[in-house]
Amino acid sequence: MQLADRVALVTGGSRGIGRGIVRALASNGAKVVFVYRGSAEHATSLEAEVKAAGGFAKAVQADVAEAGAAARVVDAVVAEFGRLDILVNNAGIIRDGLFVRMSDADWDAVIATNLRGTFAFCRAAIEQMALRQRYGRIVNVSSVAAEHVNAGQTNYAASKGAVNSFTRALAMEVAGRNVTVNAVAPGFIGTDMTEAIRNKAGDIIKKMIPAKRLGEPDDIAKAVAFLVGPDSTYITGQVLTIDGGLSLGAMAG
Ligand code: NAD
Repeated sequence: MQLADRVALVTGGSRGIGRGIVRALASNGAKVVFVYRGSAEHATSLEAEVKAAGGFAKAVQADVAEAGAAARVVDAVVAEFGRLDILVNNAGIIRDGLFVRMSDADWDAVIATNLRGTFAFCRAAIEQMALRQRYGRIVNVSSVAAEHVNAGQTNYAASKGAVNSFTRALAMEVAGRNVTVNAVAPGFIGTDMTEAIRNKAGDIIKKMIPAKRLGEPDDIAKAVAFLVGPDSTYITGQVLTIDGGLSLGAMAG
């Protein structure tokens, strides 16, 4: 139970990668509060699943892109549990489209959720972590698509590239206060987000993924559990790519 007595907050926790992260942190002993936006059914089933496994998870509804949401959620966690040790900014969206046709709304939605949401939750948590507790572990979920860019994703690449830079800059400011800030950059993970291109999965695996399989939420969740646990205290400001080798380069054949 490496995370016993730790209090964690995970955004976008009810589905996909976030759901895997909630499970992993709870099974390591953390009390986990997770933010869901619309999937109340998924949120309730996750609470029950974690409870049945002997852990604790509590769902809170919020839209991370909405002004004031982060402060409301973080204040409620601190009021109920007395502390906040771990923050995982996982909520994220895609609104893909070629740049010539990209609407302002699609640009703004992606930046507001992926970048501003991450900023807002870090901002809301940082005084509690850096000043009051002198302890904190933050992990931002970025993407391999920040560096290994795809056509049709200028908004998404910009948001995740900025998350990487933000992670490094914030890590530098709070390292002396025993707060680490890292990011994970998943490759192609089988979730609702990638459902639309799942029919091309065979081709993608063959041509792009040296490990010869799609990633699973657990592949990311295990790395997050490591980055917020006791064995990584000297790691900060890093972006850990978890992609089965996808970003290494072109495959032969
Ligand atoms: P998903 O669509 O399955 O889940 C995303 C979760 O975030 C959902 O629960 C959704 O409700 C929540 N969410 C989205 N916008 C929100 C908002 N405004 N407020 C609150 N919650 C919100 O996607 P996923 O694949 O699990 O993605 C999780 C994270 O991983 C995202 O940041 C995504 O960019 C990143 N990522 C995913 C992949 C992949 O291949 N699936 C690859 C690289 C990075």
